[in-house]
Amino acid sequence: MPQVIDGKQISAQIKDEVKEKVARLKEQGTTVCLAVIQVGADPASSVYVGNKKKACAYVGIESLSYELPEETSQAELLSLIDGLNKKPEVNGILVQLPLPGHIDEDAVIRAIDPKKDVDGFHPQSVGALCIGQPGFVSCTPAGIIELLKRSGIEIAGKECVVIGRSNIVGKPMAILLLRENGTVTVTHSRTRDLKEVTRRADILVVAIGRPKMITKEYVKDGAVVIDVGIHRNENNKLCGDVDYEDVAPVCSAITPVPGGVGPMTIAMLMYNCVRSIELQ
Ligand code: NDP
Repeated sequence: MPQVIDGKQISAQIKDEVKEKVARLKEQGTTVCLAVIQVGADPASSVYVGNKKKACAYVGIESLSYELPEETSQAELLSLIDGLNKKPEVNGILVQLPLPGHIDEDAVIRAIDPKKDVDGFHPQSVGALCIGQPGFVSCTPAGIIELLKRSGIEIAGKECVVIGRSNIVGKPMAILLLRENGTVTVTHSRTRDLKEVTRRADILVVAIGRPKMITKEYVKDGAVVIDVGIHRNENNKLCGDVDYEDVAPVCSAITPVPGGVGPMTIAMLMYNCVRSIELQ
């Protein structure tokens, strides 16, 4: 049977490391503070925001919460962000996505001071990542690199295939794997013969957003499979983009859903909040 990559345990370890750093900073008189903004009351977003605040409390990061009504205008949101940019006591600013349709998400992301961009979505953060300069890295792909490293999985020299090219997962994932000296291929909905490409992968990262699409026919014997997808199935149970039961027997290591990539995203957000002190 494959090595099951335990995201719960690894994320707990990272949060404890962050907790120690936060305590050390406090001793030196520095507090870490994250501002979390939610517009509207989308239930899934409320759960994510709640979990982020809980993680802040655990590691000792102060969190400021802004719960704005659905009808908040873009100008009002931008003005709040501008105010938070100017507050030296606020180290990180997070705007929970998606935003209501009348607000331009790109404009909001661009408004955040890159030194407080703990989600790593600002064009300056993405540019810095591409050319190997210091900056914030998007939490989910950064978490996947930690999962691989802390599970003893070597990336250098490996054939790495990423399915999906979104700005928050697929593209930064590909750049991070490249930075770790993987040989990287990015695939998407227009890729011809996806199976032929994914079967070359030593490390396969799946971020498609389609429940259980990846079966063993897509996977080389002995590959490492990282499943980013999160869905609720017909029985309201969580599942990923990978058909776990089908794929697990053929691979050498695999992330489960839940308990794989999911918990890493928040752990890396906490890590980025502490990193904001260094970048500032
Ligand atoms: P997006 O919908 O933004 O991107 C999906 C990507 O998959 C696109 O690039 C798309 O290609 C590609 N794709 C879709 N269908 C196919 C197909 N049949 N064959 C090949 N490629 C295909 O999704 P995200 O990147 O935001 O998220 C992916 C999944 O990860 C979702 O399930 C999401 O819920 C989950 N997620 C989990 C997180 C976590 O913390 N665990 C964090 C973020 C996301 P094209 O570009 O051509 O359209």
